[in-house]
Amino acid sequence: MSFEDKSLQCSDCGTTFTFSAEEQEFFQSKGYTNEPKRCPACREARKAERYGSSGYGNRSRRQMFPATCAECGKDTEVPFQPREGRPVYCSECYSKVRESR
Ligand SMILES: [Zn+2]
Ligand SMILES: [Zn+2]
Repeated sequence: MSFEDKSLQCSDCGTTFTFSAEEQEFFQSKGYTNEPKRCPACREARKAERYGSSGYGNRSRRQMFPATCAECGKDTEVPFQPREGRPVYCSECYSKVRESR
């Protein structure tokens, strides 16, 4: 059985995309009888939405500020703006400092 490249229209964005012979063969080998309804870009977008919904949009990612550890002098990053006159510790020293208190 041979396949030919086919032009399909995406039901999401309306773009015409190619359903290639290879993909058709792949679809058939998987037992799929339906043609894809969406272009590869929209398929990817939907996948990303489904699997990455918790951190979607990177809004939950905290901004990190570069700082120098007051204890060991190592370059580190802290999740807050370091202030003048306030010691900043790297994560290693921070846990040490906290324990000694
Ligand atoms: Zn699309
Ligand atoms: Zn340190």
